[in-house]
Amino acid sequence: MHFLRNLIILFLICIAIKINLCVPTIPSSLKTLPIDGHFDFKQVHHAAKDFGNRYSFLPSAVLHPKSASDIATTVKHIWEMGPGSHLTVAARGHGHSLQGQAQAHRGVVINMESLQGPKMKVHTGNFPHVDVSGSELWINILHETLKHGLAPKSWTDYLHLTVGGTLSNAGISGQAFRHGPQISNVRQLEVVTGKGEVVNCSEKQNSDLFYSVLGGLGQFGIITRARISLEPAPKMVKWIRVLYTDFATFAKDQEMLITGESTFDYTEGFVIINRTGLLNNWRSSFNSNDSAQASHFKSDGRTLFCLELAKYFNPEEMAIVNQEIMTSLSQLNHIPSTLFQSQVSYIEFLDRVHISEIKLRSKGLWEVPHPWLNLLIPRSNIHIFAQLVLGNILTNTSNGPILIYPVNKSKWDNRTSVVLPEEDVFYLVAFLSSAAPSSTGSDGLEHILSQNKRILELCEIDGLGVKQYLPHYSTNGEWRSHFGPQWEAFVHRKSTYDPLAILAPGQRIFQKAAPLSL
Ligand code: FAD
Repeated sequence: MHFLRNLIILFLICIAIKINLCVPTIPSSLKTLPIDGHFDFKQVHHAAKDFGNRYSFLPSAVLHPKSASDIATTVKHIWEMGPGSHLTVAARGHGHSLQGQAQAHRGVVINMESLQGPKMKVHTGNFPHVDVSGSELWINILHETLKHGLAPKSWTDYLHLTVGGTLSNAGISGQAFRHGPQISNVRQLEVVTGKGEVVNCSEKQNSDLFYSVLGGLGQFGIITRARISLEPAPKMVKWIRVLYTDFATFAKDQEMLITGESTFDYTEGFVIINRTGLLNNWRSSFNSNDSAQASHFKSDGRTLFCLELAKYFNPEEMAIVNQEIMTSLSQLNHIPSTLFQSQVSYIEFLDRVHISEIKLRSKGLWEVPHPWLNLLIPRSNIHIFAQLVLGNILTNTSNGPILIYPVNKSKWDNRTSVVLPEEDVFYLVAFLSSAAPSSTGSDGLEHILSQNKRILELCEIDGLGVKQYLPHYSTNGEWRSHFGPQWEAFVHRKSTYDPLAILAPGQRIFQKAAPLSL
């Protein structure tokens, strides 16, 4: 009896030791770190949620930092604990990731929005720029820079995202064809590395760290400050939509518009499959040039391609701008009766998705699962992709928009960490689906996920040279194949700046304390 009891105790001790070895425990030492902010060990549920609404990993603690030094102190402490602690750290910007990228299972999530760095500062002059916190929302940068008649050059479609969050990916929108993505418009960064060092970096200073972090999926450091290039801001925007029934004509016009000196400041496009009422919705905000003809135009059942353009201007330039637009539009081959125009302020145009957010929130449709799939597709394969997927694998677009537009690779810097297709022009194709909670039909999560899977398999089987944007993979092999020839450089950068793999565990590329193998 005595022997049996001892055996059970021994067994329980062994289990406890095993759990201790595999699962990070939050050391009480975190509580005594000399920081200006604070740790929260109880209210941590918010940090286990993101926009994707599909992955939820509870952290053990959330750091609410007041300064970059709070972040550095915490990361350094964890670095000094060594690999045995298994403790990891994720920076959480605005939590708009899709697959738990900003989460840290039983680790520490840094709530970047608590960061109170120096105030945002706009510098005017020959090379205007703004110095911002890595936690700043792009919408706030827009409001602040506009006070000086300036604005960043390159955006995302939605502005309620943080600087650190989008610079860790790329930041792509309709201005990218001319200015490159947001990561092409950054001059300097302040970064906390995986060893807890605070480092300033730019093209000239610590340049390898600078380019590692840009598009680096949060793997090499936490961006605490950024210097972003600005340009004179326009006051108004002509916002235009034209339709095509033929993908080849649509793509040809898009490619023409992104080469040479395009008149337009923004070029995107999207697909409409089987959406009868959609054009009627537009008519409330867009005027058609020929309303009689447009009212006869029926989209019923057809796959349509919408080219979306914007031209920036100031009121005094109105006449000349109208003339320029008419000349440029005359070179396009859209369906003539489908020219829809609108005139809005620059802020209204840039913050357009927020209007949809407000509407969706009011209907309880914002916080649903978002099984998004974003792909970068080489120009030479976009036609075959469109033929195989649009109207085929996908027979309607009622689950959410599908964006499709080309960008010029020459506007991207090949020293950054971002992974791109191998051609000079590639398309962003974004399937931005929302799933109806608990539906088992074609608007349900399972159905959309299996559609995404089919699309990815098709890209693989046909060797289309496609790269995922906002990539997400489960295995090391998949990540290696995503990076291709860039894998070795990526691993080398990781072992230089975050050798214990403390940072960005939610990306699931490296495991803490696992050897960083090539
Ligand atoms: P989070 O989700 O909080 O973090 C994203 C990743 O970055 C995580 O790995 C995190 O650990 C890391 N990270 C966060 N902050 C930092 C930091 N300071 N330093 C280092 N790493 C950090 N993207 C586009 O390119 N173009 C678009 O047009 C576009 N539109 C979108 C529209 C909507 C409605 C949504 C929800 C997303 C859109 N995105 C777009 C994607 C968006 O850029 C990414 O989801 C981005 O990661 C979200 O930013 P966030 O601030 O919420 O980051």
